Amino acid sequence: MHNVTLNNGVEMPILGFGVFQIPADDTERAVTEALAAGYRLIDTAAAYGNEEAVGKAIKNSGIPREELFVTTKLWIQDAPAQENATRVFETSLRKLGLDYLDLYLMHQPFGDVYGQWRAMEALHHRGRVRAIGVSNFYPDRLVDLLSNNEVTPAVNQIETHPFFQRTADQDVMIEHGVQIQSWGGFAEGKNDLFTNPVLSGIGAKHGKSVAQVVLRWLVQSDIVAIPKSVRADRMAENIDVFDFELTDDQLAAIAALDTGESLFFDHRTAAVAGQLGKRRLDG
Ligand code: NAP
Repeated sequence: MHNVTLNNGVEMPILGFGVFQIPADDTERAVTEALAAGYRLIDTAAAYGNEEAVGKAIKNSGIPREELFVTTKLWIQDAPAQENATRVFETSLRKLGLDYLDLYLMHQPFGDVYGQWRAMEALHHRGRVRAIGVSNFYPDRLVDLLSNNEVTPAVNQIETHPFFQRTADQDVMIEHGVQIQSWGGFAEGKNDLFTNPVLSGIGAKHGKSVAQVVLRWLVQSDIVAIPKSVRADRMAENIDVFDFELTDDQLAAIAALDTGESLFFDHRTAAVAGQLGKRRLDG
C-alpha cells in the first residue's frame, strides 16, 4: 500500500475502506472482509452508528495495531463543546476498542468549531490521537481555522469525485499543508458514474473497471480515497489500482467531466447550515 505523509510526519495509506451506510449488523463482516482484502485504513464516524462493529472486526483480525490506520469523526457538540467533544472522543475510542486513534476528524464545519478544535488539539497533545483534521470544510472556513489555531488540520475530508473534482480547493490545501481526502469517490453511483462512457473507455484501454479508473485517478492525483462496498469482490477490485497509470490524455479527459458542483449538498448554503448544523446524534 502506498502512503501519504501528513503535515506532522504521520504516514497514512492513500487508499482505505469507508463504512458509511453499512448497517451496524453487517459492518463487522464487511470490515473483516476488507481487512482480509488488504485494506489497512478504516474510515468510520460516531454518526455512522457502527464504531462498535468496526472495533470487533479489528480485534478479531489479529492484525497488529500499528499496522492499522483508524479514523473516526466528531459530530457537532452542544456547549460546552470542548468538554463534550473530549467526552464523546472517549466514547468513540471505547466503542472501537482502541487505546489511541490514528485520525480524528471534525465531521462538519458547524457549531462551536473553535471549541471542538481546541478539544481535538488537547487530545492530540495528550497522545490520544496521532493526527487531527476536519471534514466538509470549504477553503474559507479551513483557512480561518488554521490561521487562528495552533494545530493545522492534517486532513480535510471532502466530497471529491470525477463530477466534482475540487482542484482549486486542493491547491489551497497543498499551500497550507492539509492533505485532501475524498469522500463519495464514486459519487455513490450518481450521474450514472459506473457506466460513464469516458471512464469506461479509459478502463477498457487498461483492462480495468470504471471503479478502478476513478480510484486510480484519485490516488494519482495525491488524493486519499476511501471507497465503500459491502461486497468482497468489489473490495478486492477497488484496492487493485496500483499496477497501471493513467496517461496525460486520460487525465485530461477525466478533468473535462468536472461540473464544479456538489452532487450531494453544499455546506456553504443557509439550508444545509440550518438543517445539518442543528442535527445532534442523541436528539
Ligand atoms: P462511494 O464510495 O462513492 O460509493 C459507494 C457505492 O458504490 C455503494 O453503492 C457501493 O455499492 C458502490 N460500489 C463500490 N464499489 C463498487 C464497484 N467496484 N463497482 C460498482 N459499484 C461499487 O460512497 P460513500 O460511501 O458515500 O463514500 C465513501 C466513504 O467516504 C464513506 O463510506 C465514508 O467513510 C466517507 N464519507 C464521509 C462523508 C463525510 O461527510 N465526511 C460523507 C460521505 C461519505 P455496494 O456497497 O453494494 O458494493
